[in-house]
Amino acid sequence: MGTPSNIKLIDENGLRLDGRGDEELRPIKITTDVLERADGSAFIEWGGNKILVAVYGPREAYPKHTQDIEKAVIKARYNMAAFSVDERKKPGPDRRSIELSMVISNALSSVVFLEQFPRTSIDVFIEVLQADAGTRIAGLTAASVALADAGIPMKDLIVGCAAGKVENTIVLDLNKEEDNYGQADLPVAIIPKTKDIVLLQMDGDMSEDEIDRAMDLAINASLKIYEHQKDALKRKYFSIAQEDEQ
Ligand code: ADP
Repeated sequence: MGTPSNIKLIDENGLRLDGRGDEELRPIKITTDVLERADGSAFIEWGGNKILVAVYGPREAYPKHTQDIEKAVIKARYNMAAFSVDERKKPGPDRRSIELSMVISNALSSVVFLEQFPRTSIDVFIEVLQADAGTRIAGLTAASVALADAGIPMKDLIVGCAAGKVENTIVLDLNKEEDNYGQADLPVAIIPKTKDIVLLQMDGDMSEDEIDRAMDLAINASLKIYEHQKDALKRKYFSIAQEDEQ
């Protein structure tokens, strides 16, 4: 992850390439109920990331051997569109997207009341239309909103943020250049009510103290993003109530 000598990621005033301070989030906007055909959907814009999520189900799991007689199975599919990055990405699943689909499925499975829907699958399609670092967490954050939009019973939403180390500074919510040339990236996702960690990965190296600081930053930021998620869902029900009144 070394920094090329011509790229300075943090300037003498402590500001990052996109003008943020070390503890600042990129702008986040979440909308829900964006696809009519899906049972639930959400769209998230987070910095330069644009990610669409569609949820279908619970519906009979197919092929049949994937059914669990005791509970629903969450099948999340993370996909980066070929046009989502500067250089065209080879279409189709690769090792990275298979891994991300698995960690996202596991995280979502920890909040949904799966026992209520035996033999079914809940299919979660995460389509990254524009990628700018932090897509796994942005996708997961939007996916939990889309599950709630589908009316699927859950203990809570899931929300996350990444933090990392850039030019020996611990920073929140890495952008693309920081992700590519920084020293470490630590994506974290939690269940906000219990603070249980449901996704934790790390790329690069940090000391124990640095990890603690990065975790604190990421968890505090997650609690702020949780408010964006709840607002998106409230806006949906507010507009339905208004339509009913008319
Ligand atoms: P995350 O998006 O969760 O941070 P990574 O750290 O693996 O995941 O990727 C960081 C960023 O690098 C992505 O958001 C994307 O902008 C870019 N990237 C990832 N995979 C590819 C790829 N195959 N081709 C081009 N750019 C990619």
